[in-house]
Amino acid sequence: MKVLVINAGSSSLKYQIYDMTTETALAAGRVERIGMDSSILVHEPHHTDEVTEVSEILEHTTAVRKVLDKLTDPEVGVIKSIEEIDAVGHRVVQGGDLFKESVIVDAKVKAGITSLFDLAPLHNPAHMMGIRAVEANMPNIPQVVVFDTAFHSTMPEKAYMYAIPKVLYKKHKVRRYGFHGTSHDYVSKVTAETIGRPVEDLKIVTCHIGNGASLTAVEGGKSVDTSMGMTPLEGLMMGTRSGDLDPAIVPFVMMKEDLTVNEVNSMLNKHSGLLAISGSSSDMREITEGMEQGEPNATLAFEMYVYRLRKYIGSYVAAMDGVDAIVFTAGVGENSAVIRQHTCEKLTFLGVEIDPELNKIRSKEPRRISTPNSKVEVLVVPTNEELMIARDTYRLVTEAK
Ligand code: ADP
Repeated sequence: MKVLVINAGSSSLKYQIYDMTTETALAAGRVERIGMDSSILVHEPHHTDEVTEVSEILEHTTAVRKVLDKLTDPEVGVIKSIEEIDAVGHRVVQGGDLFKESVIVDAKVKAGITSLFDLAPLHNPAHMMGIRAVEANMPNIPQVVVFDTAFHSTMPEKAYMYAIPKVLYKKHKVRRYGFHGTSHDYVSKVTAETIGRPVEDLKIVTCHIGNGASLTAVEGGKSVDTSMGMTPLEGLMMGTRSGDLDPAIVPFVMMKEDLTVNEVNSMLNKHSGLLAISGSSSDMREITEGMEQGEPNATLAFEMYVYRLRKYIGSYVAAMDGVDAIVFTAGVGENSAVIRQHTCEKLTFLGVEIDPELNKIRSKEPRRISTPNSKVEVLVVPTNEELMIARDTYRLVTEAK
């Protein structure tokens, strides 16, 4: 069975095609700048070099058609015809409290995703465009949606409620949902496999730190708390997002600077975090370089990032009353030995001890970086959200047959 995984954004569409008999990715790629002139399609087949094509792709239906053309292309394609694709899986950011697990797309599911547009205005409308674009190109293919929020649906009320008037929850569904759930789920399972213990017996803190960043307390294989909130703005300091701040700052700054709702939203989401503090970059590689060269703003950005990360790890250990493993994943977590080192070196109160040599190794494989004496296992696990989406799609479509 072959499954096409799609992650549709408002002006982009990422894809990956899997052969599920072996769980191997046959090709991946992305379309960027949809709706603009000179859209770009980058197709990366696993058997040969990637190809880049520039053309005008005005909407998602054309983007999906171009992707299917590439997948079936005699030279760079990986399948002979579209009929070889048995199902399509989509990443959907916001499932609200409607979707607690992945589901096969039908009219009711589409209405549900649409009813959540208010909660995820930048994401859910784009995902619906992706679903409709697949329908237009492959009218009868089964589609599955996998939600970033679903893994966090096990959080208890005490973790997901905000201490504000309850009417806001009742009327507008204001609560913590959490994001990156597919990644937290995947890396916690791989952590359990890697250390050879059942996930049901473990307390794990999963650190998904990329451009966006979130931590999850995973107890017995279930999310019991996570740092992103109703939106992906809460929690850790990120590339361009502020993370936690005193909520009173928002009306204060709006008043003092005469900012609109959109302007303040944009400030907190796009002009804050590492970028704001360093004054130069949201990229952890450049921040680290600046810090190593003694540049004061980059140094402060680096220190704030690590300090906040460590405080969150500590709070999740307290939330679970213990921890067996801490796992790092995503762009920063998988690649930055220096972030892992600085984060772990002040977790000695937990008995955390990492091996500097193991920490330096670069690999695509899950690996332990803690010493045999460490009281807590510390791991690096490359995330694979696409594979999780492909697995759920395969499982649901096979069960439905
Ligand atoms: P996204 O949240 O967009 O999916 P990724 O998980 O791909 O992001 O992470 C992207 C980030 O990873 C980049 O912005 C960069 O800061 C960081 N990154 C990648 N490689 C390294 C590295 N070697 N050292 C430090 N940071 C890195």
